[in-house]
Amino acid sequence: MDIVKTTLQVVQSRIHVAAQKAGREPSEISLLAVSKRQPADAVRGLVMQGQFAYGENYVQEGVAKIQALAGLNLDWHFIGPIQRNKTTQIATHFNWVHSVDRLIIAQRLSEQRLSAERLTPLNVCLQVNVDDEATKSGVALNEVAALALAVRDLPNLRLRGLMAIPRATEDAQQQRAQFALVRQCFEHLNSMGLQLDTLSMGMSADLEAAIAEGATIVRVGTALFGKRDN
Ligand SMILES: *Cc1c(COP(=O)(O)O)cnc(C)c1O
Repeated sequence: MDIVKTTLQVVQSRIHVAAQKAGREPSEISLLAVSKRQPADAVRGLVMQGQFAYGENYVQEGVAKIQALAGLNLDWHFIGPIQRNKTTQIATHFNWVHSVDRLIIAQRLSEQRLSAERLTPLNVCLQVNVDDEATKSGVALNEVAALALAVRDLPNLRLRGLMAIPRATEDAQQQRAQFALVRQCFEHLNSMGLQLDTLSMGMSADLEAAIAEGATIVRVGTALFGKRDN
């Protein structure tokens, strides 16, 4: 009889193989399961298999799931575009935010983390725009350093690193080249004394390239939960 692997096992083994190829320890890379547009029961199914970190893109949907699954002690990351009027909800309910790309948003998150009386700082990554597509969110590479220095000084945030969603391409070389830009930016910030430890990059289709370029968090939806409606 064939032993059928779960999608979680398949993704974990992709991470493992990619890490080994890159000469890295698989334990340096954590898997963020992107549960957007998935019901709370789908999350429960993965929790039973030992997956505890989840990423959400939409505030209302995310908060509803966080409340439905409270008690399971999950680690919730906000990874979607941030509207100003949604920062309170994010600062109150999430442990991480990967998509900070302007100072006003970071300032609001810091103030609201305090008002929410959360005892730990909110972990923050700056989203960088590596391909300068006008429509996409993210801070331009040449503006990342200034933003990072300003965010570092906010009291209730902990600046952890960078996040990127490069333009989708099937060309593995091109995927790596885009992730390399993010890694170089990360190294530059650390050479300025910033002590960042997180590179959030790589999704279902390109996690191998991201791991080859130093990703420490890969954000995977489709490969775990199947295709979404949108
Ligand atoms: C949807 C999404 C993902 C997951 O994408 P898949 O291709 O389904 O793995 C990762 N990161 C962000 C920011 C997303 O919006």
